[in-house]
Amino acid sequence: MSRRIFEDLAKQIESKKKDGLYKDERIIESHQGAEITVGGRKVLNFCANNYLGLSSHPAVLQAAKDTVDSRGFGLSSVRFICGTQDIHKQLEKKVSEFLGTDDTILYAACFDANGGVFDPFLDQECAIIADQLNHASIIDGVRLCKAKRYIYSHIQMGTGEYEFDGRKQLGLEGVLQLEEVRNCKYRMIATDGVFSMNGDLAPLDRICELAEKYDALVMVDDSHASGFVGRTGRGTHEYFGVMDKVDLITTTFGKALGGASGGCTSGRAVLIDWLRQVSRPYLFSNTLAPSVVGATIKVLELLSSSTELRDRLESNQKYFRQRMTAEGFEILPGDHAIVPIMFTKFSPDDAPVAQAFANDMLAEGIYVIGFFYPVVAKGQSRIRVQLSAAHTRDHIDKAIAAFVKVGRKHGVI
Ligand SMILES: *Cc1c(COP(=O)(O)O)cnc(C)c1O
Repeated sequence: MSRRIFEDLAKQIESKKKDGLYKDERIIESHQGAEITVGGRKVLNFCANNYLGLSSHPAVLQAAKDTVDSRGFGLSSVRFICGTQDIHKQLEKKVSEFLGTDDTILYAACFDANGGVFDPFLDQECAIIADQLNHASIIDGVRLCKAKRYIYSHIQMGTGEYEFDGRKQLGLEGVLQLEEVRNCKYRMIATDGVFSMNGDLAPLDRICELAEKYDALVMVDDSHASGFVGRTGRGTHEYFGVMDKVDLITTTFGKALGGASGGCTSGRAVLIDWLRQVSRPYLFSNTLAPSVVGATIKVLELLSSSTELRDRLESNQKYFRQRMTAEGFEILPGDHAIVPIMFTKFSPDDAPVAQAFANDMLAEGIYVIGFFYPVVAKGQSRIRVQLSAAHTRDHIDKAIAAFVKVGRKHGVI
C-alpha cells in the first residue's frame, strides 16, 4: 500500500502543473549580477537578493580564494568538536560589531538559525507572539518549540481586531493583553524585520515599546535588511532607532551580505552563550566553509568602511518607485528595494495577468517573477521587483521602458 505514494505524488504534481503552480527553475549560465545569461541570452536581473551587488564583487571573490589557500576547503566537523577556526571567531566578532550586539553565533543558514532560536529559551509555560506573515523558517522554528503560539495581524500594533485575507485577528497589543499571555513565564515577540512579499518593515520602534510595556523579549529576522536598511545599513533596528532594544537578531549571509550561504543569531551575550550549549542546528550540523567565512568578513569590512553601496541602492529604489508611480503602475508604498507591482484592478482574475506579464518581461530582456495565490493572498497577485546597487540608471530605465510597453499591452496602464 505504501508504494501507492509514488502514484499519488505523480497525480499531485500533474495537478500543480495544470494549475500553473509547478515551480520550474530557470538556469543561469553566468555569475549572479545585474546582467546574467539565461538560456544563452543576456537579460537584466531584477529578482535576486543581491541587494548590494556583492555576489560577484572582485574583492569578495579574492577573499574567498585566499581563504581556500590559507584555511582549506572544509573542516569536516561541527563547531564544538574541531570545526572552529580563528576566522569563525573573527566573523562572529565582526557581525556583532556591525549589528551593534554583544555576541553572535554562526549557522549553516538563517533557516537553521531560526530553527534553533526558540526551543532553547522557551517551554510550554512561555508564549511566542508572531506576525502573521513571518517567514517559513520562523514558523518552523516556532513549531519545534513547546511554547504557546499566538499570531497577530500583520504589522498591526493596536488592541483592536483587524481583517486580513478574510480573517479577523488581534493586533500585537491585543495579544499581549490576553490573560493567558500575561500569565506566561516568558514572552517573546518574533517578527521579520522586512517582509519579503511586500517590502514593508515591521514597526520595531512600536514593537520595542510594547515589549517594554508588557515585559516581552524581541526577536527579529533581518534577512532582507542586514547590510542596507538603516542609515549605515545595520538593519531594521537602526532604521527605527532601537539598536539597543532588540534582544535577538537572526540574519542570512545569503542575501545582501555576499549571497553565498550561512546565517547567524546575534544578541545579548548570555542568550548567545546558551545557544552554543544547546541549539541543535548549531551542535549537530557542519561548520561554515572557510571560503564563505573569509568572504563574509571581507563584505563586512567593505560595508563598515563606506555606505556607498547602500546609498546607491536607496537612490535606485526611490527612483524606480517614483518613475513607476508616475507611469501609472500600482505599487505597494514603502521604502525598500523590494517593490511589488500590483494587479488588483484585474481581481479576481489578476493571477493570469501577473503570470503573462512576467513572461512578456523576460521576452523584453527583463527577468522578474510573478507571485500569486497561494504564495500571496487571493486578489494580491504581483510582480516583485528587487533593486540592486549593481543596477545602473540605464538598467533601471530599460526595465521601466519594458514595464510600460508590456503594461500597455495588458491594459495595466
Ligand atoms: C531568506 C530568508 C531566510 C533564509 O535564509 P537562508 O540563509 O537562505 O537559510 C530566513 N528568513 C528570512 C526572513 C528570509 O528572507
